[in-house]
Amino acid sequence: MTSPAYAIVNLKALQHNYQIVRQYAPNSKIMPVIKANAYGHGMLRVATTLESADAFAVARVDEGVRLRKAGIKNKITVLEGFSCINELDALLAHQLDTVIHSLTQLDMLEARKDINVCTIWLKLDTGMNRLGFQPAEFVNAYKRLNDCQLIQGDIILMTHLANADDKHDNTTVKQINLFTNTFESILAEQGINNEQNLSSIANSAGILAWPNSLTDWIRPGIMLYGISPFPVNTGEHFNLKPVMSLHSRLIAIKSLEKGDKVGYSGTWICPKPTRLGIVAIGYGDGYPRHAKAGTPVLVNGLRVPLIGRVSMDMITVDLNSQPESMTGDPVTLWGNGLAIEEIANYADTIPYTLVCGITQRVRFVEKTIIN
Ligand SMILES: *Cc1c(COP(=O)(O)O)cnc(C)c1O
Repeated sequence: MTSPAYAIVNLKALQHNYQIVRQYAPNSKIMPVIKANAYGHGMLRVATTLESADAFAVARVDEGVRLRKAGIKNKITVLEGFSCINELDALLAHQLDTVIHSLTQLDMLEARKDINVCTIWLKLDTGMNRLGFQPAEFVNAYKRLNDCQLIQGDIILMTHLANADDKHDNTTVKQINLFTNTFESILAEQGINNEQNLSSIANSAGILAWPNSLTDWIRPGIMLYGISPFPVNTGEHFNLKPVMSLHSRLIAIKSLEKGDKVGYSGTWICPKPTRLGIVAIGYGDGYPRHAKAGTPVLVNGLRVPLIGRVSMDMITVDLNSQPESMTGDPVTLWGNGLAIEEIANYADTIPYTLVCGITQRVRFVEKTIIN
């Protein structure tokens, strides 16, 4: 007996999307971002499938440690870096590379007397105002790192784009310019030639929309999973293929009269006689509770609208357009044939939260053919 709710992870689609990244940035090294369990797709599965990647990025030290313990040999960068001595120890013990974004981290590094080969990603805050040194602190931070006994590896300069998903917002131009200027002032100060100093700016939106952000290293996340980072289109627009699709099945069908109420609080009142389908998927599986009435659902591959509230284990759909449908029929919540970007719009969220939100209860099935 298997649970009706399952997610297919299409590994061929993942490899295909990686090739699309490659086409956009033929001269950059690619660091797939596989934080948060690879955006819900399974971190190890994704790392193994993209084994030729130049490095992987995770958010936290423990994510990197898990990859190492599972035998992943690629370079691994911890995007938030370490936040205590224990994490620094773990990071060095497992040969993880770290982002350095604060003076606190620098102090902790300088206090160490051991020597380690570890690549440092020194982060400049160009306006996101989250992690990173301010431009005025940056050159000094760079010098301190360069003098730091512990560090024998490369120092890669990086920043993160805040608004790259809006192609008309010139924040991105300003961020890239600020980064480039700061980068050059370091080169001037140190008399170092360009070849030794590497940089990294682009996330998925940068890769797809801002060619100036394509530097030595790129950091694609969402696009690898076949999803557009832009609110205005879907991954298909860029020839990306969805990696995750979410499925379940009809577990009951009933006939309601005009005026009958459906679900919690009876928010849906049937405007006409309705053939109602009950699907075994709910927010307990990660289907968004805020999906509005009218959110499309595929039953037997055809669109029907969600009606009533999403509950923990079930949703209800209007099957009037499918008089022949039966209990047991297959249902797709997103994936091939139903863009997750569209579902995110109906649920007033972004697709990132949907893929990250799939819960333990959902079975994962790997698929290795493209469609
Ligand atoms: C998550 C993350 C990325 C990937 O962003 P996408 O929009 O998913 O491509 C890149 N860089 C940093 C620093 C991140 O935190």
